[in-house]
Amino acid sequence: MSSSTILIRGAKGILTGLAGDAMRHDVATQGADIRVTGSTITAIGQLEPLPDEKVIDASGCIVMPGWVNTHHHLFQSLLKGIPAGINLPLLGWLTAVPVSYRRHFDHEAVLRLAARLGMVELLLSGCTTVADHQYHYYPGMPFDASAAVFDEAEDLGVRFVLARGGQTIKREVDRNAPPQCQPETLEQFLASVEKDVHRYHDPAADAMRRVVSAATTPTWSVPPEHLKPMAREARRLGIRLHSHLSETKDYITYCKEVHNCSPVEFVEQHEWLGEDVWFAHLVHLTPAEIQTLAATGTGMAHCPQSNCRLGSGVAPAPALMKAGGRVSLAVDGAASNEAADMYHEAHTAWMVHRAVGGADAISAEDVVRMGTFGGAQILGLDAVGTLEVGKAADIVVMPLNEPRQWGLHDPIIAPVVSGAARPSTVLCAGKIVVENGAIPGLDLEALKADADEAVATILKARAA
Ligand code: ZN
Repeated sequence: MSSSTILIRGAKGILTGLAGDAMRHDVATQGADIRVTGSTITAIGQLEPLPDEKVIDASGCIVMPGWVNTHHHLFQSLLKGIPAGINLPLLGWLTAVPVSYRRHFDHEAVLRLAARLGMVELLLSGCTTVADHQYHYYPGMPFDASAAVFDEAEDLGVRFVLARGGQTIKREVDRNAPPQCQPETLEQFLASVEKDVHRYHDPAADAMRRVVSAATTPTWSVPPEHLKPMAREARRLGIRLHSHLSETKDYITYCKEVHNCSPVEFVEQHEWLGEDVWFAHLVHLTPAEIQTLAATGTGMAHCPQSNCRLGSGVAPAPALMKAGGRVSLAVDGAASNEAADMYHEAHTAWMVHRAVGGADAISAEDVVRMGTFGGAQILGLDAVGTLEVGKAADIVVMPLNEPRQWGLHDPIIAPVVSGAARPSTVLCAGKIVVENGAIPGLDLEALKADADEAVATILKARAA
């Protein structure tokens, strides 16, 4: 038994992901060591190494649960900073960037490379669970996009939730779009989701693979009459629902004009609220909508950097938390957030709410809570998101070896207040997925060369 255990020893501080005072484990009185057996945390305290045990020296380091990223579009990892969309708001940007560039991802190798790059960025920022809102599906698609992203996740050892997106109606932004933006029928969409559930979905609390039904937006990607069948089919299959909602003011205006209600009222009418549903953004919410989301347990994937980048606004995440609602943290696709880095996202969350809500609007602990436990709760991964005995060993060891982290009087808040960092060690399900600041077996230089080449190929195709 001893040979399969790992001892993370002597942390300077431990953030547990738990609520209130329990967020800060008292290393002085309760010990600073964490033992992992197989995929699980089996002891926390003052522990002596067992014979043959692998010991990871965490002295001088902050130890915390792996970040949980609840909304991403990994295929966009090769679409950063595209000049045509760099200063546009959501709708103009959607047309100029993700829609316009979809045809370039109609190759399994490019999608795989983008997914790998996105997950490498995340892993190197201490993220161990990734929910990817992958909506690159269309009738006659020549390769298996679900298999491609699951394979890449497995290769890197991260927990992967496929939010299987797509559309069953031609959207306004798709008017001059490539064939890759053509809609599926409702039957094609549902059959494909069910197939992915049978192939990949694991309902376990510590699952490495989950599937979610995730039409790209409830207002623009599907006709209203498809929403209930999608929700009911997801519940029949025992899977969750995810989509984008209330990202911009246009979204609110559209719902008012076309459906004569607010976006939250609209999805409520179509059975898209509940503990098994979460939405990305939710930037523009009325107090009544906040109450409805909290009362139904419907989750928010809070994407502050993407919302800043596109000028969408600042989501009322602290208000939803205060109302007892479920809030998680997410980077969104890299075409609208050039930094798919969870430390950076956490830092931004800590900053923007203070800018609009005052210096006590959100604490560093609140941000850690939403980025760890909050995300796991929303994804239904009940064994994930906290450092506790019996929970999954998704653990990040962050050394304080950057000058930006020096001089801190309360170093435990470094993962939030100091911005970008690089963990020395990351464990996911007890496996070492980052060691000495690097991903074992990954040639980072080769990945950079592949990314450069893919961007050059896309640029050449655009110029032709
Ligand atoms: Zn998104």
